[in-house]
Amino acid sequence: MSTPPPTSGTATSGTTTSGTTTSGTATEHAAEAAARPDGDLSGDPSTTGLEGVELTDSPFSDFLGFELLLEDDDRELLGRVRAFMNREVEPVINEHWTRGEFPHELVRGIADLGIAGLAYDAPGCPARGALVDGLVAMELSRVDPSIGTFMGVHGGLAMGSIALCGSPEQQQRWLPAMARLELIGAFGLTEPETGSAISQGLSTTARRDGDAWVLNGEKKWIGNASFADLVVVWARDEDDGQVKGFVVEKDTEGMTFDVQRDKIALRVVQNAEIHLRDVRVPEENRLQEAHSFHDTSQVLRVTRMGVAWQAAGCARGAYEHALRYTKAREQFGRPIASFQMVQDLLVKMLSNVTASTAMNVRASQLQVAGLLRDEHASLCKVHSTVRMRETVGWAREVLGGNGILLEHHVGRFVADAEAIYSYEGTREINTLIVGRAITGESAFV
Ligand SMILES: Cc1cc2nc3c(=O)[nH]c(=O)nc-3n(C[C@H](O)[C@H](O)[C@H](O)COP(=O)(O)OP(=O)(O)OC[C@H]3O[C@@H](n4cnc5c(N)ncnc54)[C@H](O)[C@@H]3O)c2cc1C
Repeated sequence: MSTPPPTSGTATSGTTTSGTTTSGTATEHAAEAAARPDGDLSGDPSTTGLEGVELTDSPFSDFLGFELLLEDDDRELLGRVRAFMNREVEPVINEHWTRGEFPHELVRGIADLGIAGLAYDAPGCPARGALVDGLVAMELSRVDPSIGTFMGVHGGLAMGSIALCGSPEQQQRWLPAMARLELIGAFGLTEPETGSAISQGLSTTARRDGDAWVLNGEKKWIGNASFADLVVVWARDEDDGQVKGFVVEKDTEGMTFDVQRDKIALRVVQNAEIHLRDVRVPEENRLQEAHSFHDTSQVLRVTRMGVAWQAAGCARGAYEHALRYTKAREQFGRPIASFQMVQDLLVKMLSNVTASTAMNVRASQLQVAGLLRDEHASLCKVHSTVRMRETVGWAREVLGGNGILLEHHVGRFVADAEAIYSYEGTREINTLIVGRAITGESAFV
C-alpha cells in the first residue's frame, strides 16, 4: 500500500537527497528560515516531499499541486484514468445522459484501468491506498459524475461490503472477479419508506430456515441493481433484531427490479427499486463479519469519503469547462475572461475546488494511517458537496444561456450535483454526525 510523503507543516523529520538528516518541527523550520540573513522563507524542500518537482507537472486545475503527493506509479495510474475519461467517456456521455442509458460498452476499458476496489487490501484488489483511490474518484467525476457513481457503488460500496464484512473465503470467491469487473456489484440499503433513518428503521427481514435465509422487503435507489451480478442486501434478522448483509446473486428467484425512470440527475446511473419476495439465500452468502449496523457503518465511512472526492471532481469538471469557455467567448469585443466580475466567479470556483481537495487529501491520509473517524468523513462530505453545489451554479452562470445546453457539459454537472448532494447521507445527517462528535451531544431525533 502506498504511503504519501509527509505534508508540509506536519513533518518532524526527513532525509535530504544528499543524505543528510534533518529534524525539527515546522515551527522550528519557520523560525530557522526567518533567522537567515536574506530572509529566505523557502525552507528545505526535503521536508515537504516536493524536492525535484515542478508545479507544472500537475494539471492547471490542481492549483496547489496535490497530485504531486502521489508516488510515481500512482500518478501514472491517475494519468491513464484521465486520458481514458477524456478520450472515451467525454465525447459520448451526453448522448447516454439524454437517453438515460448506461454505457455498457465502456466497462471493458474501465476494467483495464485496474481501479475497482483500488484501496482495499483484499484478494484481487490493487491495495494502492486511500489517497490515490480518492484522486481517481475525483478524476472520474471530473469528466462524468455518473461513471464516478457507477464505480463508487461497484468498487466502493459493493466490493467494500465484501472486503470489510466478508470472510476470507467470501472475499476470495467474489472480489478478484469484481476487481476485473467480470462481476458487477450493487449495494441495497435504502428503502422506499426509510432513507436517513435506515439504521433504526430498516424493515427488510431475514429469517433463518435451515441452511438458508429467507429475505422479504423493498429497496429503493439501488445503483447498478438491474444489471448487477450480485446485490449486497442489508436485512434485519427476525431472530436477534440485528442488521446483517447478504450477497444475493443475479436471477435468484423472488428478486425483481423496477428501474427508476425520469431522474433529473445522474441519468446514466441505473437506479432501481428491488422487490424481495421469499428470496432464499444460502448461509454461505451471508457476510460472515456483518453482525450489526455498526459493521454497515464501517463500509459507509470509507465510501462517504469517496463521495466527498466525487463532489470535488464534479465541481472541478464544471470549473474547467467554465474557464475554457470564458477564454473563448467574446462580448463587447473582448473575451469574457477579461471581465472582473467573471474572474471573481472563476477564482471563487477554484478556491472551492482547492479547499475541498485539501480537506479530502488530509482525510485520506488519515484513512491510510487507520485514523479516519465517521465525523472526519462526514465533515468532508458536507464541505465538498455544499461547495460543489455553489461551484456548479457559478460555472453555469458564466456560460450565460449556453450553460443550460448539454453540449457545453456544465448543465450535466449542475444536474448531477443534486444527487451527489443527497446520497450517502444528506447534508443534515452528516452535519449531525459532526455536531455530535464536537459537542458530545446527539441532536438526532
Ligand atoms: C441517485 C441516487 C443514488 C443512490 N444510490 C443508492 C444505492 O446505491 N444504495 C442505497 O442503499 N441507497 C442509495 N441512495 C439512497 C440515498 O442514500 C438516500 O437518498 C439518502 O440517504 C437520503 O434518504 P432519503 O432520500 O430517503 O431522504 P429522507 O431521509 O427522506 O430525508 C428527506 C430530508 O429530511 C432531512 N432529514 C431527515 N432526517 C433528519 C433529521 N434527523 N434532522 C434533520 N433533517 C433530517 C434530510 O436531510 C432530507 O433533507 C441513492 C440516492 C440517490 C438520489
